[in-house]
Amino acid sequence: MIVKENILIPNPKSEYYNVKCTKCDGKTIIYSHTTKDLYCKSCNELLAQRSGGKAKILGEIISNLD
Ligand SMILES: [Zn+2]
Repeated sequence: MIVKENILIPNPKSEYYNVKCTKCDGKTIIYSHTTKDLYCKSCNELLAQRSGGKAKILGEIISNLD
């Protein structure tokens, strides 16, 4: 008999961040699990870098929106 393992399904909490560009202080709303790299609309600075899961936020997170 095969014992069914208790597999934990990762349930990452997704949220939105209000991120400030460190270069021009422009604010952008960024989804925490974005699948695209996101750039500042004003100066094109990279603000969020996609990864397999939670994106790497390169700007300054001001607040969480949820
Ligand atoms: Zn900027």
